[in-house]
Amino acid sequence: MSSIYFTEEHDFFRKSFQDFLQKEVVPHIETWEKTGMIDRFIWEKMGEMGYFGINCPEAYGGLDLDLFYTVIFLEEMQKINSGGFAAAMWAHAYLAMTHLNKEGNHEQKEKYLSPSISGEKIGCLCITEPFGGSDVSGMRTTAVKKGEHYIINGSKTFITNGVCSDYLIIAAKTNPGLGNKGISIFVIDRDTPGVSATKLDKLGWRASDTGEIAFTDVEIRASNLMGEENKGFGYIMQHFALERLVMAVNAHARSEWALEYTIQYMKDRTAFGQSISKFQALRHKVAQLTAEVEVSKSFNYQTAQRLDKGEYVVKEATMAKLITTKVADDVAYECLQLLGGYGYMEDYPMARLFRDSRLGPIGGGTSEILREIIAKMVIDGKDYKPAT
Ligand SMILES: Cc1cc2nc3c(=O)[nH]c(=O)nc-3n(C[C@H](O)[C@H](O)[C@H](O)COP(=O)(O)OP(=O)(O)OC[C@H]3O[C@@H](n4cnc5c(N)ncnc54)[C@H](O)[C@@H]3O)c2cc1C
Repeated sequence: MSSIYFTEEHDFFRKSFQDFLQKEVVPHIETWEKTGMIDRFIWEKMGEMGYFGINCPEAYGGLDLDLFYTVIFLEEMQKINSGGFAAAMWAHAYLAMTHLNKEGNHEQKEKYLSPSISGEKIGCLCITEPFGGSDVSGMRTTAVKKGEHYIINGSKTFITNGVCSDYLIIAAKTNPGLGNKGISIFVIDRDTPGVSATKLDKLGWRASDTGEIAFTDVEIRASNLMGEENKGFGYIMQHFALERLVMAVNAHARSEWALEYTIQYMKDRTAFGQSISKFQALRHKVAQLTAEVEVSKSFNYQTAQRLDKGEYVVKEATMAKLITTKVADDVAYECLQLLGGYGYMEDYPMARLFRDSRLGPIGGGTSEILREIIAKMVIDGKDYKPAT
């Protein structure tokens, strides 16, 4: 924790959120990891406590707090070691709700944002499609305007909360001939005829549900359009800065937690008559990783501070996610190794952390795509501008 970024109020919030997680969430994690579905009651409890409204306007029930409360929210969820639980919560609050908050009009905010803050409604963000995720402009889902309605056809995949959510924020092509200039964003109620979802099985993030969603002649009112027609690509790209920073913060937090656990394990474990924490080969490994995590964390905090001030930190957030998720994968790999055979056992935390960590360099923009974005900025001099 650093006093440069955190006040006493932040510390108080952290402590009360830690207590909440220990009391209300941790006792259920093993069950949710097994069932792949998080019980509804916890969404409502999180909502009652205000945790979903940290960065939302007070007018809709939010707390309108600075970004370091979000940082704490993310960090502490990583430290209970269920990437799936954390993902379900932050995908709701920082993927779906970010679009509602930024592009939603007053009616949409009243109908969807307020109950999302209170935990009565769960949201998901549907961008990725079965035929490609990295190439957002290549999406095939269409929204054809007919009078006062749009008809949606297509499919989305790998959607966090894709099965359990009450509404879906989806990207679809309103003008397929215009490539990325023909994408719009809509909010759709789950129970709209023609919407169906299938739960996918996956390596990690096992407590969260990940869905494949089909839209077959789904008729929605034109008033379900969010923001301006054909501006969706810009909105998606703009919010990627926050999403990537979220994933970077998650990565440094789980790395810190893994190292803390492992250092204690090393002190307690003996081999050849001494604590394994005395072996130089292992000490240097831990020292190197701790240094990498600390440097990444500082950069993530600095980027969060700039984003909080309203700067468009697309380059920094991209770099933060690229580097910190790689460091986190290295930490997960090495910490598992440092636990020896116990690292491989489900009774010990590294097996789950190792699985969960692997999504870091894939979701929200793969590392390859992030390098491509950075290359365009630093080599070609490309300047990404905010959409609004
Ligand atoms: C558990 C989970 C949860 C997710 N949650 C959501 C969600 O809530 N909402 C949502 O919309 N999406 C979600 N995603 C999707 C995720 O964002 C995509 O999987 C990711 O963007 C990559 O897309 P893809 O899987 O189609 O891979 P592809 O785009 O097919 O890429 C395959 C490989 O090719 C590489 N590649 C592609 N293009 C290039 C290039 N130009 N140069 C170099 N390499 C390239 C990629 O880096 C990757 O290694 C989730 C995914 C998972 C696994």
